Amino acid sequence: MDDPYLTFLDDDAPALSNGEAADGSSSPFVIDEDDRYSRLRLIPWWRQDLLAKAKVLVVGAGALGNEVLKNLALIGVGTVYVIDRDTIETSNLSRSVLFRLRDGGRPKAEVAAERAKEINPDVAYHWMRGDVINDVGLGLFADVDVVIGCLDNREARLWVNRQCWKVGTPWVDSGIQEIQGVVKVFVPPDSSCYECTMTARDYQLLNVRYSCPLLRREQILEGKVPTAPTIASMMGALEVQEALKLIHGMPVAPGSALVFNGVTNQFYRTKLPRREDCLSHETYPEPTPLAIGNGATAHDLFTLAGQHLEGPMTLPLERDMVTTVSCPTCGWSKELHQPRTQVTTADATCPVCNELGRPETLSAVDQGSPFDDRPLSMLGVPPGDILRVDGSHESAFFRLDDRGAFGWTTVE
Ligand SMILES: [Zn+2]
Ligand SMILES: [Zn+2]
Repeated sequence: MDDPYLTFLDDDAPALSNGEAADGSSSPFVIDEDDRYSRLRLIPWWRQDLLAKAKVLVVGAGALGNEVLKNLALIGVGTVYVIDRDTIETSNLSRSVLFRLRDGGRPKAEVAAERAKEINPDVAYHWMRGDVINDVGLGLFADVDVVIGCLDNREARLWVNRQCWKVGTPWVDSGIQEIQGVVKVFVPPDSSCYECTMTARDYQLLNVRYSCPLLRREQILEGKVPTAPTIASMMGALEVQEALKLIHGMPVAPGSALVFNGVTNQFYRTKLPRREDCLSHETYPEPTPLAIGNGATAHDLFTLAGQHLEGPMTLPLERDMVTTVSCPTCGWSKELHQPRTQVTTADATCPVCNELGRPETLSAVDQGSPFDDRPLSMLGVPPGDILRVDGSHESAFFRLDDRGAFGWTTVE
């Protein structure tokens, strides 16, 4: 054993450097055993104060999300938001350290946040049972320091990627299968992004959904990838470690993938090429804050936007809304006003012929159009969203107030 690193890693004693801890606190030679973070502070560059100030959004509270939340609790990241749309099933228990048998049927995000709070009460946890695409305003993406993706589908990854790019927030993604895994770090605006790496096959898989626009999520093969808890643990840990470096302003490898093959124990890093014509690379300027929330109408928004833009104005909708479904056979039709991704087959099936209706979708609202008097919430705009409004010559960006916003619950 003449590799110095091997010897070093065997050593039980802390690797003490002479000098002060990076945050200028007490000498690392004096260990305060009552301080939860005393061992972490021994790491020369570690800044507990930066971690305490940091805000992280965790998207997904499944196998990866559990591991990520556990680690964020251990290191004392100050504020954690966690969103997941599912509830706990017994089959989750083999891969989710924060769940118990008695939690069956409860929202994953709620239970994960509660248990993480038990691990570290210093952390402020906010959870939501919902869908990152429809329920999280862009403002939150702007407010957090890092987004950590613990996702099982391309659609949500692509969405998170575009949101992060719009507001310049770095994000860490991971994918796992059996005992293999990958972690990717993306830093807008200059690195390659998730979409840069999407292949024709990825787009094809996304289009499976869009070619049949009212196909419900559960009917598409997704999220049932077999994974072992060991790989979730490894990749979740790497995700948090990369987030830790981003929070400390330490160098990361943006636009690259860390790939681990657990069968052969090969670990390598590969640079992901940047595609200049990639559709995700739109970055928004700093938005103008508005005193209205998503309960205000599009008309209210246009009135305020009129102080910055010349009309006629248009509000492009980031989330396609299904306004009506109609039966191609008997002419039955029904008003819906739901985001396309949330329309169920039951919602859209003709009660007479039992046929799937055809959707009519709305992708933009014009000033003075019949949809102008609808609340923004009915147009698929979540609380605290950042909206682009197009005027006759240019566009302007506005941030909605999210005070009193439903959705996020804080763990007491
Ligand atoms: Zn890209
Ligand atoms: Zn019909």
